[in-house]
Amino acid sequence: MKITDINIVRNRKPIVLPEAWKPAWGMPDVKPMKTTNFSFVEIHTDEGITGIGPGGGRLSPGFIDRLKNFLVGSDPFYVAKFSEEYMGVRGISRTPLGGVDTALWDVVGKASGKPVYKLLGAYRDRVPVYVATCQLHSPTEHAKEAVKYRNEGVRAIKLRLHRQNHTDDLEVVKTVRDAVGDDMIIMVDANQNNYSPNYNYWSRRTAMWMAKKLDAMGIYYLEDPLPLSDVEGLKQLADTVDMYISGGEHAQDVNQFAFLLFSRAFDIVKPDITMGARIGMSGSKKVAHIAESVGRMIVPHVFTSGIQGLHLAATLQVAATLPARVCPYVEYGLEPPALTIETLQGLLKEPIVIDGDGCVQVPQLPGIGVEVNEEMVQKYL
Ligand SMILES: [Mg+2]
Repeated sequence: MKITDINIVRNRKPIVLPEAWKPAWGMPDVKPMKTTNFSFVEIHTDEGITGIGPGGGRLSPGFIDRLKNFLVGSDPFYVAKFSEEYMGVRGISRTPLGGVDTALWDVVGKASGKPVYKLLGAYRDRVPVYVATCQLHSPTEHAKEAVKYRNEGVRAIKLRLHRQNHTDDLEVVKTVRDAVGDDMIIMVDANQNNYSPNYNYWSRRTAMWMAKKLDAMGIYYLEDPLPLSDVEGLKQLADTVDMYISGGEHAQDVNQFAFLLFSRAFDIVKPDITMGARIGMSGSKKVAHIAESVGRMIVPHVFTSGIQGLHLAATLQVAATLPARVCPYVEYGLEPPALTIETLQGLLKEPIVIDGDGCVQVPQLPGIGVEVNEEMVQKYL
């Protein structure tokens, strides 16, 4: 089998959301987001199989030409060769290439008639997820939302801490904890590694004070309590509290994750198959093995509004090869009425939904397990 062409499919017409939303990590000055977008990589082959992978929207026409020079005419099964040349320690890219890596895996699975996780070595067919809320609401609104999810079978929820006064963040966590009791796992994300103008960032001392308070409330993990570069500050937190310290969604390659893990900055790292320049499905699996080797864990980061369905499907193919002691959860973004299953996963023919037990089924079709909703694509091209 040979690769015949690579192209990026992206929407040109705006996909208007039912309601505008404001990402917590951009507060206080972020502009409301009224639309969403999609982009995905397609790898075509001479056997009529087309592989797809989320992302690729930032690849320039010149870069796509270089990729074509390398990949067209080659065997798509040589995924590791692509990883080595483009995404390895001497890989040339500073652009996210996870979509290409994922599309190659999708071809491999489709050609083999199996979902990728069964080719990599399956461990499980269902994976626990946590619902990641994305905005800052009042304590009672968050409590109402959490109780609703709990009643639907969701077992874990992530709250955002990005209010100008960190004690207001604590109030939200306390109110949600009181509302759901011990029925739900609560994680929190301080998003201190995101750039938000005029935000009152936490100092190391604030981060430590918050970590101790949250630890006493039985919070599962505190994510990004300090910038990614403050390895010493992160390590102090991880050494001090029982609660896990997590982070790393902005790390760019496997080596950066290795550094963070060996530095003991995080108990849980968060590889993202689309965000890092040189991670993808192949790199996420490597990060998981490094984390396991030092007694730590991964909880993959999955948040890419318009392509979340593809992103989640591919991430689950990796998570399904790992036991819960290495990968206890996968992220599942949700924030109705703006970010619903329809707006986040509209690109999939069949959305990936949470069952009554807080888990999702690993998509079972060959490749990354899902089919693209062509009607949706055509509507917005
Ligand atoms: Mg995060």
